[in-house]
Amino acid sequence: MGKPTGFLEYEQKLAEAIEPKERIKNFNEFHTPLSEKEQRKQGGRCMECGVPFCQAGMMIAGMASGCPLNNLVPEWNDLVYRGNWEAAYYRLKKTNPFPEFTGRVCPGLCMAACTCNLHGEPVASKENELAIIERAYRTGLAKANPPKNRTGKKVAVIGSGPAGLSAANSLNKRGHEVTVFERNDRVGGLLMYGIPNMKLEKQYIDRKVSIMKEEGITFKTNVNVGVDIKAKQLLKEFDAVILACGASNPRDIKVPGREAKGIYFAVDFLTRNTKSLLDSNLTDGKNISAKGKRVMIIGGGDTGNDCVGTSVRHGAKSIMQLEMMPKPPETRAENNPWPQWPKVCKTDYGQEEAIAVYGHDPRVYTTTVKEFIKNDKGEVCKAVLVKLESKKDEKTGRMMMVNIPGSEYEVDVDLVLIAAGFLGSQDYVTKEFKVAVNERTNVKTEPGKYKTNVDRVFAAGDMHRGQSLVVWAIREGRDVARDVDLELMGYTNL
Ligand SMILES: Cc1cc2nc3c(=O)[nH]c(=O)nc-3n(C[C@H](O)[C@H](O)[C@H](O)COP(=O)(O)OP(=O)(O)OC[C@H]3O[C@@H](n4cnc5c(N)ncnc54)[C@H](O)[C@@H]3O)c2cc1C
Ligand code: SF4
Repeated sequence: MGKPTGFLEYEQKLAEAIEPKERIKNFNEFHTPLSEKEQRKQGGRCMECGVPFCQAGMMIAGMASGCPLNNLVPEWNDLVYRGNWEAAYYRLKKTNPFPEFTGRVCPGLCMAACTCNLHGEPVASKENELAIIERAYRTGLAKANPPKNRTGKKVAVIGSGPAGLSAANSLNKRGHEVTVFERNDRVGGLLMYGIPNMKLEKQYIDRKVSIMKEEGITFKTNVNVGVDIKAKQLLKEFDAVILACGASNPRDIKVPGREAKGIYFAVDFLTRNTKSLLDSNLTDGKNISAKGKRVMIIGGGDTGNDCVGTSVRHGAKSIMQLEMMPKPPETRAENNPWPQWPKVCKTDYGQEEAIAVYGHDPRVYTTTVKEFIKNDKGEVCKAVLVKLESKKDEKTGRMMMVNIPGSEYEVDVDLVLIAAGFLGSQDYVTKEFKVAVNERTNVKTEPGKYKTNVDRVFAAGDMHRGQSLVVWAIREGRDVARDVDLELMGYTNL
């Protein structure tokens, strides 16, 4: 530890965000990084605890605590403090192939589990991570490093999200010949079409993918495996196949009037926005515009928040975000102690922007939709909402959110975005490969393993784990690569 008293002397300082009313004028990222001097001070706040919870990545009470990649957080915090950026980059790279993604979009499980977070502000580890990698690009350290030897083994990776990219990266570095198949026109999965540009500008994906290409990985876009190319053919051409297709089955809201025009899944709204933004700066008319509309977003999570931020930028007339659960507490509840992930109310960037523009928080808690009402053109024009309360289910004993009779009320809406989560993998891929799935339609493997019931077929990421986080997808990609390598070579050092 370079500065034993750093956490007492220096206050936490994070990258400054551009004011909401200013940043909504475009879809760019909106944080201004700290100066090098200030970032180094932030590294000096790390105490290098004897038990570094920040890098543990363990499950406590069903939630992850600390970094799922087991990033060597205290080590690179110290190297940042000392200004040894080169060593910091090599320590970071040891566990995380994509810090340019996690440094932007990770919820920062390391920071939630940081010991300083017990009584004060955590070390700004996520921003230190981003500073290390961005500096490595600027100074030319982050560059292509192709493997010296090839094994002669061929691996197909289906899906180019963070799980597929992470698996491809590890297997290619090991010397296997890797081809990534992607049904979209661009590589990146939900990093590209899902997470909006203001959270992750897409040139950072392209920058990394072009290095991966230089290192020898082949990317085949616009290829829908199971439709354009069959499982049999892939298994003939490749020694192993990894399914990393995500959990792209959105959960629907099955209420009367659902078929009305103007009701979309959030992920379609976000995908079309980013594609149109990248293709034509939103001039091709192919996005779903919220301009001048009364927008209702169903789902209070991160995807819902991304829809809020996108709708604000379009110039929506009003925005309402429905959440079934009650408002979480402002501070940790007694049964949610550190270092558990804090289940507290968080006002995210989109909600901040909505508050700045419309003067109130768009979130409406303990409420859901009971019915959609259409106008004579078949377009949604109203929604019937109902308040909810928590009640014990007599059969299961579990607490459920149930309608409060007589609490219904109507609101005017023009655009509805369903952000109610994902149900699991799409069955045209699992059926094509004949892989077994569990009750949530995630691909089934033995616990802690990635091999499916089908010979030479593996699965990773959201398709295996269920809807999760970028950092977990990267971890699963790293782990599936190890299992594939072991299968192909009889031993593994990955
Ligand atoms: C709107 C939204 C915002 C999010 N924001 C965050 C965030 O801020 N931070 C965070 O940590 N997580 C976030 N997540 C979750 C995170 O994006 C996912 O957990 C992660 O991307 C999963 O990675 P994956 O590689 O398993 O799957 P995906 O990223 O879903 O990638 C799967 C890829 O497989 C392709 N594919 C599917 N089937 C086929 C086929 N048959 N042939 C060829 N290609 C195929 C798909 O087109 C896709 O590109 C967000 C999710 C959403 C929906
Ligand atoms: S990947 Fe996420 S949890 Fe891990 S060190 Fe980076 S920001 Fe923290």
